Amino acid sequence: PANWGHHLTDMLFGAIETGGTKVDCAVGSWPDDVRDRLRVPTTTPAETLSRVTDFLLAHHRKTPLSAIGIGSFGPVDLKAGSPTYGYITTTPKPGWRNADVVGPVREKLQLPVAFDTDVNAAALGEVRWGAGRGLDSLVYITVGTGIGGGPFDGVCPYHGDCLEGLASGPSMEARWGIPAESLPRDHEGWRLEAQYVGCAVANIMLTLSPERIVLGGGVMRQRHIFPLIRVRVVEILQGYGVLDEIVEGIDDHIVPPGLGDESGIAGAFALAVEEVG
Ligand code: ADP
Repeated sequence: PANWGHHLTDMLFGAIETGGTKVDCAVGSWPDDVRDRLRVPTTTPAETLSRVTDFLLAHHRKTPLSAIGIGSFGPVDLKAGSPTYGYITTTPKPGWRNADVVGPVREKLQLPVAFDTDVNAAALGEVRWGAGRGLDSLVYITVGTGIGGGPFDGVCPYHGDCLEGLASGPSMEARWGIPAESLPRDHEGWRLEAQYVGCAVANIMLTLSPERIVLGGGVMRQRHIFPLIRVRVVEILQGYGVLDEIVEGIDDHIVPPGLGDESGIAGAFALAVEEVG
């Protein structure tokens, strides 16, 4: 709804964003009205989820929450009616393969729980409150812990040199021996990273023609890579398949998240709000 930019409701919600490294949790009525937050490291599912649910339960007992929204790393099972709905499935993250995420949250809080992927949640947050406001279509790509070919084998345990294997944060660290956040701006790694991400973006533009593409995740905190990616996309497309006005407005077409690092948690709020209608 168009009025989501304003105060929506007096109801309170719980928002959870699970990541491979950390889990963020917030309580509030919407992302601009966060009353409390918690961040815990992602250890075992049992330990991590019980810390999150303890936090939410303490709030719920003081002031009742109406619903919980979860944006989760994955892959996840989103199929309604599936026996493993709400589970993380074939993740390479140790201990989290076939872990039930929704079950323990629902059981402990006895509340409606909405569940989606972390990146769907981030896209939803950006559509409601960020770089996607007023648009009919938007693609969100995250380049963080998770997301082609040179001699480098890649770090993806499933495909080796897929996009994630070649362009994720851990792959940059494996290739250059330095974490992406410490790689100097003029390091050749950024040109290569722009090449990989640029290929992905050009493919998405040709396949889906979204009105805007948002690039988030830890690696994309390096804002200096955006001009490199835009140049690569324009070079790759060679004027084919997209309107001139998109090429002319490329700075506005490929953008960082309007909500910065908050897209995912905002999307988890959006999921919770939608859950109660
Ligand atoms: P998660 O994938 O757990 O949600 P992130 O999106 O922050 O978390 O991804 C973590 C990856 O992003 C790590 O590989 C890290 O090296 C990289 N990263 C985090 N911050 C930055 C930064 N400021 N610049 C470049 N890379 C970063």
